[in-house]
Amino acid sequence: MIPVNEPLLNGNEKKYLAECIDTGWISSEGPFVSQFERNIAKRVTRKHGIAVSNGSVAIDVVVASLGIGKGDEVIMPAFTIISCVAAVVRAGAKPVLVDADPLTWNMDTKQIEAKITSKTRAIMVVHIYGLPVDMEAILELAGKYHLMIIEDAAEMLGQNYKGCACGSFGDISTMSFYPNKHVTTGEGGMVLTNNDVLAEKCRSLRNLCFQAKKRFVHEELGWNFRMTNLQAALGVAQLERLEEFISKKRLMGQRYTEILSDIKSIYLPIQKTDYAENVYWVYGIVLKDEFPFDAEEVMKRLGEKGIGTRPFFWPMHEQPVFRKMGLFEGESYPVAERISRRGFYIPSGLALTENQIDAVSRALHEVLV
Ligand SMILES: *Cc1c(COP(=O)(O)O)cnc(C)c1O
Repeated sequence: MIPVNEPLLNGNEKKYLAECIDTGWISSEGPFVSQFERNIAKRVTRKHGIAVSNGSVAIDVVVASLGIGKGDEVIMPAFTIISCVAAVVRAGAKPVLVDADPLTWNMDTKQIEAKITSKTRAIMVVHIYGLPVDMEAILELAGKYHLMIIEDAAEMLGQNYKGCACGSFGDISTMSFYPNKHVTTGEGGMVLTNNDVLAEKCRSLRNLCFQAKKRFVHEELGWNFRMTNLQAALGVAQLERLEEFISKKRLMGQRYTEILSDIKSIYLPIQKTDYAENVYWVYGIVLKDEFPFDAEEVMKRLGEKGIGTRPFFWPMHEQPVFRKMGLFEGESYPVAERISRRGFYIPSGLALTENQIDAVSRALHEVLV
């Protein structure tokens, strides 16, 4: 079986983990946490990094820190992970969806302006699968309508938009360090911002809003979303190799594209736009309309040949949990609906070998004739 993702942990991970155990520093108080925060912040040119337990709760912390709540609207993509909408819904605000661009699979920036109302507080940007969102369009809209920008850069650590690091855009950004991300801590996430006040709020929110003077007297409600020193130790070791990981991802993507480009029934990810070169966080494939089966059937057939795959995200307006809440009634986002049914991704992890890429490609040729 070729797994859809396998991380590479053969740098200093063991050494730094042993350091945690030898010194007894295993909680969030250990020194790797602040080191990891500083290193990530520096890499994406942000002033502050606030490590948290995962990339989903990073979004919860961010939404709370911005004071987004009842009566507010947040514009975000229909084609994304549930964490984005969940954070906004839990905060009592209204998620307003925008369809995907058929080529980049990112939020179609041309459709945003029509969704802005007097209640809109923020645009949540999510970079999907390998290419960043067209940030210039977002920055212009945010400036014109005085909106905040939240950037979910979970899939895009090490990627640039016009030479600027993903994770450096807008008021505040989030990262995830799940094992399929470019840098992993097993589970983990981070909030990134240049704003001192927001940074302090996020630090407090992830730490139960304990107070400096009267520790157990709380003015506000927070969470325990702290990252452990063990997780941060992994992260520090992983980050040392980010540039190597990024070039490996690009080479893997290019190899897939070369070998798969003769298959007529599929769309491959686009290699670059005028603002970025694809980093192939995952290598996504979309079946053309004329191909007789949906992604589900193709994935099943690939599975029988020992190839691990994952479906694309399922659109937010089609989520039963949100429909039961009365959200997104009667709404339709045709591109998100199509790519979620016709799209899937193939093994794309950092431990993938050239031989495995060739084996995956052979299986695709057999299944997609
Ligand atoms: C992975 C991911 C997250 C969630 O991160 P977790 O650490 O798995 O909670 C959020 N947003 C995007 C775009 C992601 O890809």
